[in-house]
Amino acid sequence: MNRKLLAIITILFTVSLSTYYYLWYSDPLNSVTESPYLTPTIIKRMQIMVDDTPEELPNELRSITIARGEFPSWFRLAKGHTTETLFEFVTYQLVYDVGYSIIDPVHSKALHDTMIWAYDYDEEAYNKMQKSLEKAHQIYFTHEHWDHFAGAFNTELFDKIKHVIYVSKAQRNSDMMASMKDGFISLSQLDKVNVIDNKGLYKISPGVVLFNVPGHTPGNQGMYIKLKNGTEILLVGDIAYSMANITLEVGKPRISSHIILGEDSEAVNSQIKSLIRIKNEFPNIHIVPAHDIPNNRKLVEQGIIKKGLH
Ligand SMILES: [Zn+2]
Repeated sequence: MNRKLLAIITILFTVSLSTYYYLWYSDPLNSVTESPYLTPTIIKRMQIMVDDTPEELPNELRSITIARGEFPSWFRLAKGHTTETLFEFVTYQLVYDVGYSIIDPVHSKALHDTMIWAYDYDEEAYNKMQKSLEKAHQIYFTHEHWDHFAGAFNTELFDKIKHVIYVSKAQRNSDMMASMKDGFISLSQLDKVNVIDNKGLYKISPGVVLFNVPGHTPGNQGMYIKLKNGTEILLVGDIAYSMANITLEVGKPRISSHIILGEDSEAVNSQIKSLIRIKNEFPNIHIVPAHDIPNNRKLVEQGIIKKGLH
């Protein structure tokens, strides 16, 4: 083989190998520090914020699984770790003595069918969730992606429920909104819902504090929840796709985070690093990544989250 050709092949091979290593394999957690948006001090402040009205705390957090997708392990975990490949799409309901809130209403089957890694869809569960939306006192969202948002916008119920929908200002102004409009949303719908200006911590109802964690999307927010029986829950949306990111202490690979999802990979991985610390320092707080099937199942089995919506 001529030497020039050999040199070209060697260069191509080296470039491919380093690209693979950088995007798929190497752990972005190694090059970030903990997030300033998710610190033990912030957790303690939220714990204090919900304690002023103990009698008004929610009675239970309920959930319903509406759809599933199949996403490869490399989508969630760096360093070649493998994991359960099915994702689930879940809507939550926070139940009070009087009324309830709905969090993250999942998209319709028509939208699910457009997803490249769609697995299955439970239309009965979707219909149940839509029925629950009609009587909700509040509807809000961890972030502006259609699997968490569309159930309340891409529905004929919209005009009936718009007065109980709450989006944050960051979600309202996010450029993600414009990119989602072909899927389900007319931007004019956003002028008809409540917009909350939660720059810092924001108590949206008794026992629930929203905290901004931009990165997965510009309007991404976590939710600290305390129930009447003392149970503490941290809904972290899609910061991590899997509890394994936290238990194995391994980040979200750059290929999914930065390239496919267009996340601020550094911010998201710094938030994962913070969650690792929070899990150690606050062992009583149940961390809930939205799509993790084994973790959600375990919480339901333990009675931390109740199965099905009212
Ligand atoms: Zn999601």
